[in-house]
Amino acid sequence: MEIAIIAHDGKKAEMVQFLMEHKEILQSKSISLISTGTTGSKAEKAGLKVKKLLSGPYGGDAQIAARVAEGKTDLVLFFRDPLEKHPHEPDIFMLMRLCDVYNVPLATNPATAELLVKGI
Ligand code: PGA
Repeated sequence: MEIAIIAHDGKKAEMVQFLMEHKEILQSKSISLISTGTTGSKAEKAGLKVKKLLSGPYGGDAQIAARVAEGKTDLVLFFRDPLEKHPHEPDIFMLMRLCDVYNVPLATNPATAELLVKGI
C-alpha cells in the first residue's frame, strides 16, 4: 500500500507529530510512504523512511496526482494550510480532484488522517 504525505509549511510540524504518533503502522512492511520534497525531508529527520518527490511548488503535488491517476497511490494525507496562499494552487486542486475521480481516500487535516490510518 502506497501512502502519500504532503504538508504545507504551516502544517509541517503537525505532520511530523502525526507521523511520530503513527510511526509503527506507517513504517510497517506493507506500507511505503511517498511525499513532496520538503515534507519528506522533515519526515526523514524524524527517522521515517520515505520516497521524496519534487517539492510541492515545483511539481510534487502534480507528481502525486499522477500516481493517484495511475492507480499507484492508495491513500493521501494532505495537511493543507487554509490560511495561506499557495503559488501552486492549481496543482493542489488537481490532486484533490483526482482523488475524487479515482475514489482515493484523502485526508486534509489531522483529525481525518487519524480516522483513515486507524482504518488501515
Ligand atoms: P513541500 O510541498 O513538502 O515540498 O513543502 C508541499 C506543498 O506545498 O504542497
